[in-house]
Amino acid sequence: MTQKDAVPLSFEFFPPKTDQGHANLAETRSQLAAFNPEYFSVTYGAGGSTRDTTRNVVNNLIAAGSRAAPHLSFGGDGEATIAALLADYAAAGVEHIVALRGDLPSGMGGASQLVHANQLVEFIRRECGDQFNILVAAYPEIHPEAESYSRDIYWLGEKFKAGADAAITQYFYNADAYFAFVDACAKAGIDQPIVPGIMPLTNYQNLLRFSESCGADIPRWLRWQLKERADNSDDLLEYGLEVVTKLCEQLIAGGAPGLHFYTMNQWRPTSRLCRNLLGASD
Ligand code: FAD
Repeated sequence: MTQKDAVPLSFEFFPPKTDQGHANLAETRSQLAAFNPEYFSVTYGAGGSTRDTTRNVVNNLIAAGSRAAPHLSFGGDGEATIAALLADYAAAGVEHIVALRGDLPSGMGGASQLVHANQLVEFIRRECGDQFNILVAAYPEIHPEAESYSRDIYWLGEKFKAGADAAITQYFYNADAYFAFVDACAKAGIDQPIVPGIMPLTNYQNLLRFSESCGADIPRWLRWQLKERADNSDDLLEYGLEVVTKLCEQLIAGGAPGLHFYTMNQWRPTSRLCRNLLGASD
């Protein structure tokens, strides 16, 4: 991939909890802005727990001259709260919203009913018309609560029918899972872009823990290779960059319409991956 034929890139952040975290994020934004991303997305805490901090990070990104894409879910909130937030985003010049069901915050059990993403997309279109480009989540290895492979694709189709423009996937390390999923979506009549989500490999234990909860598969060969490097972070990072660069190259060669990086608010691993893909030296 050269600058000329580069696929669109986007980078995901989470709202930091400390002043140091905000300072680090400002540096991360500035470093990654060099890759001219389509947008920086900002996650939304379960149950609306980061409603204000997500909005603050979005405002900071816009003030710094970047395009920001807030993630949004109903959580426990009513329509009036979400409509007011959408109006704030429109006034701030936000162009993209990542619309999600989200998960219940731990401890809330069955006390509250989650609103599915297709219903949120419908709500945004009803409230705001074509104001926003709406992105939704997709799962090449299938959402952990899905009734079946084809039902999960059916519900993705419902998100598009409700008005979503594109999907971003959960991360994965097996390119075939993505290509098989895109083929199955096409057979189900979905022709909107499905952008692969890319998680840099930086920490063995965190990756295992997180992958367990979100249903992302770590192939057996990769798990063993990472385990061997679990106590040597430099070695693990270098190996991880090799594996993920190869994955991104396969995805681009196979026609992926873009790459969305889960940066974990760190610029170095994502920057090195992008430089590898662009053939730039470090
Ligand atoms: P949905 O599309 O609603 O799907 C959830 C499950 O229900 C699936 O099994 C689906 O098959 C089924 N389903 C879908 N619609 C219906 C329906 N109408 N009726 C019955 N069943 C249905 N989480 C956060 O808390 N904050 C974030 O910022 C965040 N960002 C994310 C970004 C990306 C790119 C991705 C891939 C995930 C993100 N998540 C985030 C995680 C996400 O919230 C969880 O995976 C959640 O469990 C599902 O959200 P969804 O929008 O995919 O839900």
